[in-house]
Amino acid sequence: MKNLVILGGGYGGMKILNELLPNHLPEDVTITLIDRVPYHCLKTEYYALAAGTISDKDIRVSFPEHSRLAVKYGEVTSIDTKDRKVILKDAEPVAFDDLIIGLGCEDNYHDVPGAEQFTYSIQSIEKSRRTYSVLNNLGPGSVVAIVGAGLSGVELASELSESREDLNIKLFDRGNHILSAFPERLSKYVENWFVRNNVEIINNSNITKVEENKLYNHDQPIDCDVIVWTAGIQASKIVRAMDGEKDRSGRMVISPLHHLPNDEHIFILGDCASLPHAPSAQLAEGQAEQIAEVLKRRWKGEAPPASFPQIKLKGILGSLGKKHGFGMMAERPITGRVARLLKSGILWMYKFHKG
Ligand SMILES: Cc1cc2nc3c(=O)[nH]c(=O)nc-3n(C[C@H](O)[C@H](O)[C@H](O)COP(=O)(O)OP(=O)(O)OC[C@H]3O[C@@H](n4cnc5c(N)ncnc54)[C@H](O)[C@@H]3O)c2cc1C
Repeated sequence: MKNLVILGGGYGGMKILNELLPNHLPEDVTITLIDRVPYHCLKTEYYALAAGTISDKDIRVSFPEHSRLAVKYGEVTSIDTKDRKVILKDAEPVAFDDLIIGLGCEDNYHDVPGAEQFTYSIQSIEKSRRTYSVLNNLGPGSVVAIVGAGLSGVELASELSESREDLNIKLFDRGNHILSAFPERLSKYVENWFVRNNVEIINNSNITKVEENKLYNHDQPIDCDVIVWTAGIQASKIVRAMDGEKDRSGRMVISPLHHLPNDEHIFILGDCASLPHAPSAQLAEGQAEQIAEVLKRRWKGEAPPASFPQIKLKGILGSLGKKHGFGMMAERPITGRVARLLKSGILWMYKFHKG
């Protein structure tokens, strides 16, 4: 028996399972899925979990069941690429023949002193639960600082402002306009929404230090009751610690078939991989389809293609609370209720197909 080990049952890991199970797994191959959480979590909804507008159960999906799939609950601590085994905390190592590393990402604190220690996060389910707890236990009039106004910072600020109208929310952003990766028209639409909903945007900010309940913007102290960090991500520390070339965000540089350049049996997936697009759930799923194709062809004794076409992305949608949204679909900006309905519809479809 050959063992395919998948690290991480996130968007990428789940898509691999969906592509290989139930019919594409040869009789002599088993899969071991390892995750620190006993179910697939919908990370794209962590902002709503933290804001208290959905329950924990709403964003869990069970892993599939199959006679040759073993799901192992545990914390990966490192990968021994020479001896072909995955090292786990407080458990026996797991040997692999093929390995897919889809362990997602972590916050990038950009060496800002105190940021890791004194801010809350929405990058993992455990951290989002902690953030939910602290945000929802705040008294009226408390000050919440959200550092970083990309997609996740904007979604958290808007959702929280609807969930807790009594809070004083400040959204800190480095640029002249929030959502700098989107067209200016969209940024302005979102900024106007924040003005109408009493979220203060602090543009051109530069967070130089964080202390307990204190943020320093250009070295000027600002008292806060809770600070949430949404100012950038980097690959999982497991991948950052591996040998091999990485990009600025610690993501592994990979071959056109998504494996390590010097090891065709170790694939790097999703937020862990250096790809031409910004990391996203869609991208992780697109890449997973291609990795599954490589494995299926090899298992049949066929040569995989020399390379794949670029992964096509459908667009990106963000929410502004439960009624409004914004995004780019087919390279066109969309705003308002239609954008929000589309986003809810996509989430519903995803849960329907995976659940
Ligand atoms: C608030 C927010 C909103 C977002 N919105 C969108 C969106 O609208 N559209 C979009 O396309 N993308 C969105 N994203 C990005 C998207 O969530 C990620 O790009 C996507 O989850 C990456 O998929 P992945 O499979 O690489 O990793 P993940 O889905 O993060 O899965 C990683 C898995 O690895 C497990 N894991 C991690 N470390 C260990 C360890 N040491 N041991 C064991 N298990 C471990 C985790 O438990 C998890 O199950 C959003 C992200 C956030 C935070």
